[in-house]
Amino acid sequence: MANYYNENTVVYWNGDVVKATEAKMDLYSQSLHYGYSVFEGIRSYKTVNGDTKIFKEVEHYDRLRRSAEALNMPYHWTTKQLIDATYEVLKRNNLQDAYIRPVVYAPANMKFDTNERSFIVIETWLMQPFLGEKLLRVMTSSFQRPNPKGFRIHAKAAGHYVNSLLASQEAKANGYDEALLLDMNNYVAEAPGANFFYEKDGKLFTPALGNILPGITRATILDLCNELNIPVEERFFTVEELKKADAAFFCGTGAEVIGFESLDDYKFPLKWNDSVSRELQVAYMKLVRDDLGKTQRHEDTKKHKEAAV
Ligand code: PMP
Repeated sequence: MANYYNENTVVYWNGDVVKATEAKMDLYSQSLHYGYSVFEGIRSYKTVNGDTKIFKEVEHYDRLRRSAEALNMPYHWTTKQLIDATYEVLKRNNLQDAYIRPVVYAPANMKFDTNERSFIVIETWLMQPFLGEKLLRVMTSSFQRPNPKGFRIHAKAAGHYVNSLLASQEAKANGYDEALLLDMNNYVAEAPGANFFYEKDGKLFTPALGNILPGITRATILDLCNELNIPVEERFFTVEELKKADAAFFCGTGAEVIGFESLDDYKFPLKWNDSVSRELQVAYMKLVRDDLGKTQRHEDTKKHKEAAV
């Protein structure tokens, strides 16, 4: 088991920074019994300047709010307040490259009705960035993603993740690294905890929104495609179509950008290092570490100097 905390670790807990070992949760909470909580998965990185930067912090905390609203959970925090609290917890835990996990949860309530209040905890732990050499052997899951007519699938709700655990455990039990799940119409959807792209003849394809979690990394990849003039299309497609692709990858806050070696018995023919997907992986890793920002700022400083002379 990973070491998420020790006796010195602190968390943000309902307005205070307290020791992780001292924060308590009610065992009669609706969240524990029914999977009724919402959460985020965020990362911070040590930038090329040595600063600590939370990647897309506003987007993540805004999504946390939208997830809570989608589940009818009271939410009385501001995005700014939670971002400030997160930086404070990172500092107190002496972390730069970290995973950040806020969870909004419900009070004791065995009934199914809505609550007057919610609670929040923000946990952080060490997570080094991934360098992207490893390629995944992926299995098409026998589990479909939850039907959006049965769940608010755009919300990052704890209960949805039982589906993710089942799919991931099935893939690993069959000797694969990870699962790829289809939606209720048998179109390709996403990974248990990441979105999906494939590459064909230099063009990228990703499932359209509707039956997947609208990932912040997915949106970042779409932005990078525009910046780098890489053609990209959002649409529904089948596994059969995917098995004619040149390359494929998962993307998410935790996964970053991680390429496929194979899907079931199909081996992706393009060498990862020769793919456009690899180009995007490199661009993503630069972006999270503020590497492009540095070049930009450097240029700005140069311009300022020139202007001053
Ligand atoms: N899909 C699912 C089911 C996920 O759990 C995640 C991780 N949050 C993603 C996609 C990717 O989302 P993001 O890029 O915002 O981390």
